[in-house]
Amino acid sequence: YSRAEVEATTDGLTGLYNHRYLHERLEEELERARRRGEKVSLLFFDCDEFKRYNDAYGHKAGDAALGRIARITEACSRRIDLAARYGGEEFVLVLVDTDGAGALVVAERIRADIEASNSLGGRPLTVSIGVTTCPDDAAAKDELLDKADWAMYAAKRAGRNRVLAFRDGLVSQDTWLSRRGR
Ligand code: GH3
Ligand code: MG
Ligand code: MG
Repeated sequence: YSRAEVEATTDGLTGLYNHRYLHERLEEELERARRRGEKVSLLFFDCDEFKRYNDAYGHKAGDAALGRIARITEACSRRIDLAARYGGEEFVLVLVDTDGAGALVVAERIRADIEASNSLGGRPLTVSIGVTTCPDDAAAKDELLDKADWAMYAAKRAGRNRVLAFRDGLVSQDTWLSRRGR
């Protein structure tokens, strides 16, 4: 890859894919999986109370923590998976050819490894993770992301530092539909 290509596809702080490139590649992976009859799972995670982490240790330490999360995410995924920094302190991991049960195992490993990386004491850094699977939860890219984001927020409401599959977060279909203003 040329330097320009790397800069266009990756996030400068973490070295993971950036938001725009994740969307592009996810679309391709979903199309490929559809043709092959395979499943694709998606992890959407967000740092818990990161504002407080920054307040306690400073913005630089916050940046370093984001880098640490990126390394843990890579260590828990395969080369064919897509790891991206989706927003400020939000990450997305796309697991190719992986069903819901397999995705939960990876998500729990990431959650636990991030929690365990805080061996220095002080404020622990944790993440909440929402999990969706295509085509079980959604066939289209945006709905897959949207539902994983919803599950992530449901995990936060349930107490943070936990993993929640979209299908397990639905107390009733109403909660998802009402959230979308129907
Ligand atoms: P919650 O558990 O509900 O997610 O609480 P939170 O404080 O993490 O949530 P909120 O979205 O309110 O705050 C996110 C914070 O993440 C605010 C912002 O300062 C910080 N943040 C976003 N991007 C970066 C970054 O690149 N570096 C650092 N150090 N902090 C960042
Ligand atoms: Mg947060
Ligand atoms: Mg956030």
